[in-house]
Parts: sequence; structure tokens; C-alpha cells
Amino acid sequence: MNGETLTIGFVGLGHMGGPMAANLVKAGHRVIGYDLMPDLLAAAAGAGATAAGSAAEVAAAADVVITMLPAGRHVLALYQDEGLLAAARPGTLFIDCSTIDVADARTAHEAAVAAGMRALDAPVSGGVVGAEAATLTFMVGGAETEFTEAEPLLAAMGKKAVHCGGRGAGQAAKICNNMILGISMIAVSEAFVLGESLGLSHQALFDVASTASGQCWALTVNCPVPGPVPTSPANRDYLPGFAAPLMAKDLGLAANAVRAGGVRAELGLRAAELYTAYAAGNGANEDFSGILRTLRDGVLCEPGAEPRSDTKGGTPA
Ligand code: NAD
Repeated sequence: MNGETLTIGFVGLGHMGGPMAANLVKAGHRVIGYDLMPDLLAAAAGAGATAAGSAAEVAAAADVVITMLPAGRHVLALYQDEGLLAAARPGTLFIDCSTIDVADARTAHEAAVAAGMRALDAPVSGGVVGAEAATLTFMVGGAETEFTEAEPLLAAMGKKAVHCGGRGAGQAAKICNNMILGISMIAVSEAFVLGESLGLSHQALFDVASTASGQCWALTVNCPVPGPVPTSPANRDYLPGFAAPLMAKDLGLAANAVRAGGVRAELGLRAAELYTAYAAGNGANEDFSGILRTLRDGVLCEPGAEPRSDTKGGTPA
């Protein structure tokens, strides 16, 4: 596929898919797109894509079909019930870039292969800013041959693509990484709140931890208090950034996999609970680092409950 002009089918032209499709157009590919929302379809046409009347029409015309949808149920419904696989030419490469359950990604892959197609899961990190600037990182699951074939397309939409293993491995890497991120943002936030109660300035804790063993992305790039990192969302009243509901979603996917695999991941499960509560309340429109404020106020315990006695101070239970 290197240097070839391909016809790319793109289904799901939302916050991420819209700019990703536009970057494929900029790279010289023919893009035929579809979304349930007519205004998004019109915006894609404005960016140089051809608007299709249905997802099946996209698949019938495409060499490669990329999907960027909200959740696993949308991908599976589209692949199977809405006829995306049935409409495609045999051997078409399906690349699903949505963030979905690992089990759903494997089911989607198997359905594609059973229909005579080829498939990759290729979720992304980098957010809307990365989608617009073509600086996304892709985490890819599937066969080496298909990964190599997809690389030039992924390069048109991102800065890095990592082949993580077989089917579902891209989704697995995504949720493991974001479980680290969710837990570490809570850890950094709790440390700042504890520091406040001990009379320690934000800057002093930052200066120590950012060059010591507490160093992590949640602290040094997305610092949850205003001041130490001027570009972090905390300095603009926690405007996203990486929105809390997306973190809650990713931790929910990680929690599903933790439970399904019988894995012991107490912090990952607790982080999923805390982010679910935060995203359903104050965090609905905030960057995920805003969880610091609700942790500080003690409102992120069980719904309607007082702060847990084991987190009020003293020795944890
Ligand atoms: P979005 O809601 O803006 O876009 C999804 C689009 O899919 C919508 O426009 C919707 O109309 C369309 N859609 C749903 N079902 C469809 C169907 N059957 N046929 C055609 N179109 C359909 O979501 P987004 O923010 O673009 O996120 C997409 C995926 O990327 C999600 O899985 C999300 O978790 C992941 N992701 C998002 C971000 C981010 O910052 N937004 C970052 C990394 C990963």
C-alpha cells in the first residue's frame, strides 16, 4: 500500500473520526465516509471526502474500511447487523480505531475473518488535538502482514503505530495504559491534597516529586493543580484535555477485563468506581485531572455517603 492512492471507507465521523478522515484526504487518498449525523457527513464532504448514503455503500466501494465509533456494540452491530462485512469485497482490510472491550474486538475480528475479510484493532491515544494534528499513537492488534499494510495509512493520521500482538492486543494495550493513567492521576491528586493538609506548597511537592520517584505523566504533563505546569488543564479551570467521561469509559473496559480474567487489580477497580462517580457528576465536562477537586472535597466516596473513615486520616483500614 506504500505510496498507493486507495479508496478508504470511513464510518464514524465524530470528534476523532472527522479529523482523521480529513487527514487521509490530505494524504491523497479517496475517502468515502458515513455517519448517522447528517451535519458530520456534510463537514466530511467539506473536507474533501465523498458522502455515502449508508455504511454498506462505504464498504462496497472501499479497499480499506476504518471505523471510529463510540463502543463495542456499535462496531459489532455495524459489522454484522448493518451489513458492513457483507457489502465489502473479499479480502478488504477492516481497521477498527474505536476504543472497545477486548472481547468485543476479538469477536469483531473473528466475524470479519469468517466473512472473508482481514482485520486489525487499532485504538488511539492523543485525543482530538492529536486527531487534528495527525499526531495520534495507534496501538494495533492483528497479523503482522496486515499491520505492515496499514502502516502508511496510520502514518497519515498519527506519529506512531505500535504492533502489540494478535487480535485484541491493541485494545488490551490501550486499557492497560489508561488504567495506569487513571490510577496515577488519583495518586498524584491524593498526594497534593495530603500535602495541602500538611502545609506543603504545590510547587514544593512538584519540584521534589517531578524529579524523584513520584515522577509520572499525570504529574509532569497533566498536573492536576494550577501553577507548576502552565499548560495543564488545571490552569484553565479543568477544560478538557482528556475528558473525565472518556477516562471513566476506559477504566470501565479495564474493569470488565479484570473481572473476566479473574485478575487482582484492586486499584484499577477502585479507580473505575471513582471516575464513574466523578464523570456522572462534576466531571461530566471536565478534564480527568479535575478529580483532584472532588477528592479534596471528599465527595467521591460512595454516592451520598460521608468520606470514608479510613481516608479521613490515620491508618488506612
Ligand atoms: P463521537 O461520539 O464524537 O463519534 C462517534 C461517531 O460515530 C458519532 O458521530 C456517531 O454518529 C457515529 N456512529 C455511531 N454509530 C454509527 C453507525 N451505526 N453508523 C455510522 N455512524 C455511527 O466519539 P469520538 O470522541 O470521536 O470517539 C470515537 C472513539 O474514539 C470512541 O471509542 C472513543 O472512546 C475513542 N477515543 C476518543 C478520544 C477523544 O478524545 N474523543 C480519544 C481517544 C479515543
